[in-house]
Amino acid sequence: MYRREQTKPVRVGDITIGGNDQVIIQSMTMTKTADVKGTVEQIHRLEDAGCQVVRVTVNTKEAAAAIKDIKRQIHIPLVADIHFDYRLALEAIENGIDKVRINPGNIGKRDRVEAVVKACKERGIPIRIGVNAGSLEKHILEKYGYPTAQGMLESAQHHVKILEDLDFDDIIISMKASDVPMAIDAYRLAAETFRYPLHLGITESGTLFSGTIKSSAGLGTLLSMGIGNTMRVSLSADPVEEIKVARELLKTFHIVSDAVTIVSCPTCGRIDIDLISIANEIEAYTQNIKAPIKVSVLGCAVNGPGEAREADIGIAGARGEGLLFRKGEVVRKIPEADLVTELKREIDMMAKRYQET
Ligand code: SF4
Repeated sequence: MYRREQTKPVRVGDITIGGNDQVIIQSMTMTKTADVKGTVEQIHRLEDAGCQVVRVTVNTKEAAAAIKDIKRQIHIPLVADIHFDYRLALEAIENGIDKVRINPGNIGKRDRVEAVVKACKERGIPIRIGVNAGSLEKHILEKYGYPTAQGMLESAQHHVKILEDLDFDDIIISMKASDVPMAIDAYRLAAETFRYPLHLGITESGTLFSGTIKSSAGLGTLLSMGIGNTMRVSLSADPVEEIKVARELLKTFHIVSDAVTIVSCPTCGRIDIDLISIANEIEAYTQNIKAPIKVSVLGCAVNGPGEAREADIGIAGARGEGLLFRKGEVVRKIPEADLVTELKREIDMMAKRYQET
């Protein structure tokens, strides 16, 4: 089985997916793509949150026409999500899209597939084959009776062959299922079979709460196996939440390094400060800070500094005040009312020093 850096590098706009140890974070807008203003606003919010590639649905002529205007106003590569209609793919390509998600086996006659592949080749645009357990080809479902990981692999092989027969290999593959064990199996089989980069996702995973858990279980397992070159966490929520979850997941596996990690204690009867609100406030404050800083927020000074020896900076509560510490060493005492402000100031200073080096 490959590890993620052994895949073929595929260019998507100015980003490379595959061929390295990075995992590119994606999301998808929930606006009508033809609503250029609303779509661009949402993409800007996604960019600010750390989204590196964004996908829009291209389901109408108006949506395809909007690509040109959207592209002009955003700063990250744009992907067109297309089902069946090759004319929409051609128009999106004409309008400057950076990648197309389309399954060649679903386009219809060979000349239509050839037209899309030719347009992609001319402009250096990759194609993502999106296999989905919920929409496997009829002959595969008849063979197995229901969706299976093996069936998903055969579907991917079918679509890949169509592109390779046309001498096209700028391919990225996804193997999405909402059943987590099936998705893990399908991605594992894909990693054993293809050298193309894999786009990870647990589809229709659910709400912010349950979807975060399902996605973390599925994508976390795959990431820990070295599988996956780009990922989208799918949530029934504001897409900015998808980026937050994806970044946290990548931080957990040390794949994203320029991010703040928060360590906070589970609290117990020894607690001396309002730790839960402080931890939440610091987490929200550091969400977009691009620096590898580990921040510890602990409820008391009994085990506090010792428990957080690995943290770069932190606080531990004490009655009416808190201790500020660095690398487990107490630096000074701060009144409780000033704890959050002081901690933010220290984090800002550390981030600035990091960004200047
Ligand atoms: Fe309890 Fe203090 Fe440990 Fe937090 S740091 S769990 S308050 S002992």
